[in-house]
Amino acid sequence: FEPWNDPDQRPYIAFENITKKFGDFVAVKDLTLHIYQKEFFALLGGSGCGKSTLLRMLAGFENPTDGQILLDGENMAGVPPYKRPVNMMFQSYALFPHMSVEKNIAFGLKQDGMAKSEIEDRVSDMLKLVKLDQFGKRKPHQLSGGQRQRVALARSIAKRPKVLLLDEPLGALDKKLREETQFELMDLQQDLGLTFLVVTHDQEEAMTMADRIAVMDLGRIVQIGTPVETYEAPKSEFVASFIGDINLFRGEVTGISDGVADIETADGMHIRSETAQPLQAGQKVSFAIRPEKLRVSRIKPEGGINAASGEVWDIGYLGDMTVFHVKLGNGEIVKASLLNAVRTVEDPIGYDEEIWVCFNTDGGVVLGS
Ligand code: ATP
Repeated sequence: FEPWNDPDQRPYIAFENITKKFGDFVAVKDLTLHIYQKEFFALLGGSGCGKSTLLRMLAGFENPTDGQILLDGENMAGVPPYKRPVNMMFQSYALFPHMSVEKNIAFGLKQDGMAKSEIEDRVSDMLKLVKLDQFGKRKPHQLSGGQRQRVALARSIAKRPKVLLLDEPLGALDKKLREETQFELMDLQQDLGLTFLVVTHDQEEAMTMADRIAVMDLGRIVQIGTPVETYEAPKSEFVASFIGDINLFRGEVTGISDGVADIETADGMHIRSETAQPLQAGQKVSFAIRPEKLRVSRIKPEGGINAASGEVWDIGYLGDMTVFHVKLGNGEIVKASLLNAVRTVEDPIGYDEEIWVCFNTDGGVVLGS
């Protein structure tokens, strides 16, 4: 399933050169984004980057200042929200507190003038779908947070929209429930064959659920790709640090040949890294490497390349892995995480020890700066 790599596929949702201004403030800047049918797409970014505004324009609650939005080839300009084949699920769920679960789900269908027997069938289908068949008569306050979230979901898909927009859908749930619900949402999206567009500031959530992620900053998309692409091959320091943990080493290219760059940091650390970037000797770059790509060792590696020595400053045991914070000679802290399953327990590395942090030439990425 990679419709974005198929030139014959027409985008299902197309934002074309969208700009949105609120007075003088530009919330979305000349943004183009194509999303494909049955895709689970995530807009990821920090507070105020414009992700909700993008969702609201697609739903029809806001109009773009410039540019066009096409849905299944149809220009949405002037089409009121209730006539768009999209539905939005809000973070606050907005359930009617005085209505039963059944009535909450039936509300929109009734408004559309659907026949009573058909509504009953649809509501019962929806309750089964979100595994709440026993809870139809309850009021929202008689449900747990996770159950309320599922009612909101059932309500937002009851009308069978072609696109479901989810604005921070799991924000109100605790960590464990959130993780479970992420997988439920993915299953549901697959079963129903819908296109999902989710807004989140939680990178783990985006990575778990989405087929593709657009990372946003200041009203623009700074990188778009699959979770693997955005995590393994970030194109900027911003994306590298927004998605997951990262160690950054700044330095200068001293040589490049056959796709391997040699980089020297100000402290004299010699980095050798594979790279697809067209680099030049003398160029200032950053080398970015994830904590799990670093190893810790008491022995200085041969040749001294791709290694830095430091003092074990902190050790965090997380059950599945252990995170070492190592303070280098220049005062910078480097994070190395090791899976406990592959770590030896004999003679473990402890606090204040002088150790080496090392990595392979294919461990990180070189970012032009
Ligand atoms: P958050 O995660 O905090 O909701 P966001 O990325 O969803 O952030 P948006 O809600 O899209 O952010 O808002 C983008 C920017 O536009 C913000 O700086 C916000 O203050 C501004 N903005 C949004 N709506 C309006 C409005 N109606 N009038 C003026 N400014 C607005």
